[in-house]
Amino acid sequence: MTQLQAARNGTVTEAMERVAERERTSAEFVREQVADGQAVIPANVDHDSLDPMIIGREFGTKVNANIGNSEETSDLEGELEKLHTAVHYGADTVMDLSTGSDLDAIREANVEHSPVPIGTVPIYEAVKRVDEPADITHELLLDVIAKQARQGVDYMTIHAGVRMEHLPLTDGRKTGIVSRGGSILAQWMEENGMENPLYTKFEAICDIFVDYDVTFSLGDGLRPGSLADAGDEAQYAELDTLGELTRTAWDNGVQVMVEGPGHVPMDEVAEQVERQQRVCDGAPFYVLGPLVTDIAPGYDHITSAIGATEAARAGAAMLCYVTPKEHLGLPEQEDVRDGLAAYRIAAHSADVANGRDGARAWDDALSEARYAFDWREQFDLALDPERAKSYHDQTLPGDNYKEARFCSMCGVDFCSMRIDQDAREDGEMTDIETGSDERTDAGDSAAAEVNRPPVGTHGGASVPSGALGDDE
Ligand code: SF4
Repeated sequence: MTQLQAARNGTVTEAMERVAERERTSAEFVREQVADGQAVIPANVDHDSLDPMIIGREFGTKVNANIGNSEETSDLEGELEKLHTAVHYGADTVMDLSTGSDLDAIREANVEHSPVPIGTVPIYEAVKRVDEPADITHELLLDVIAKQARQGVDYMTIHAGVRMEHLPLTDGRKTGIVSRGGSILAQWMEENGMENPLYTKFEAICDIFVDYDVTFSLGDGLRPGSLADAGDEAQYAELDTLGELTRTAWDNGVQVMVEGPGHVPMDEVAEQVERQQRVCDGAPFYVLGPLVTDIAPGYDHITSAIGATEAARAGAAMLCYVTPKEHLGLPEQEDVRDGLAAYRIAAHSADVANGRDGARAWDDALSEARYAFDWREQFDLALDPERAKSYHDQTLPGDNYKEARFCSMCGVDFCSMRIDQDAREDGEMTDIETGSDERTDAGDSAAAEVNRPPVGTHGGASVPSGALGDDE
């Protein structure tokens, strides 16, 4: 029985209990959301190492990290390291998009070692097993999907919404079809003169998914690859089909989320999310970015995290990260880290803005540690503690600086928080309120003296020279 079927039967599963604990809500609320298709718990019955999580707009915004090899870079150990990096830096789910060699071994190892749901795109493996994409058969596709379900994959991107009748709608596009799955299926349909096999075999795929409780991630094969193509007829025609397929999956007892763009101007992001929610009856929206400008290759974790924040604010449930390598090359571990940081910031910012229970407490705790000059606590609470500590310690590495009432940003004499605190301690704020014009030079205060850099570390009481970029 899938989580959806159990929820509809009124059964609270162990996974629902665990999710409720993680989300600090009631198991009954989780059950209701799953039963209504408003949330999914991607949890293949054979994924033993999984710690269940939930994706839905009523829960914390989730972040997915894509990893995987390519023909150019292929190595099982390297992929497991990427998985570890992704989970370490906070990925809520991980998609294995491998297209190189050892696909089965990498997939099985990922499932075996991952505490988070693993997603795949089966069309990639199908392509690897034939000479030409047009040679893919319906049987081969179902065979690949069934095998990956048996291997414990929790959710699969199925580009079933790309229909033959949609293809001419992409003719005038600036960047054509940019989804790998979408372009492969378009080629298959053109060359075989037949409808998308993932569409015609959708119910057969449902039969496989129901046995293992694999969740659909309905792919957006016609997503825009540039601002110019956002919200065009092709994209929305596919979205209408995704709405139809969402209802078909639900009718078959299968959980569904729906994938979204891509590249979208900032002012159209919310409108796109609202449209998906309307067309797909509230099925969780899983968005890639979107990038809100096309001009910054090398910085697309930033261009897309801006759009992702707006999307999550408008109701998107999961954000697929984009790394600085987007459009340029396969991400390595440091790119995974940077992409995840950008997306966890996006997800958390949206959760704060949406008033998600408990989200804001994190910000407040960090601010308190910051104002108290409790550097260790500040590092511990930071989104990326290692990065925060290493940046701080580049200029003030000594242990004694972990209690200092300044850092090298403003330096001891100009630390505004220290000046502010001294002023309050000396009663200056009260004096200002009562109109007194007496002032104390905060840099001369006893507190400032105590927190000057110790002799021997930087050789003086001024800003450490390293902070200004000089050689010591
Ligand atoms: S020196 Fe500036 S940046 Fe550093 S703690 Fe003080 S106010 Fe903050």
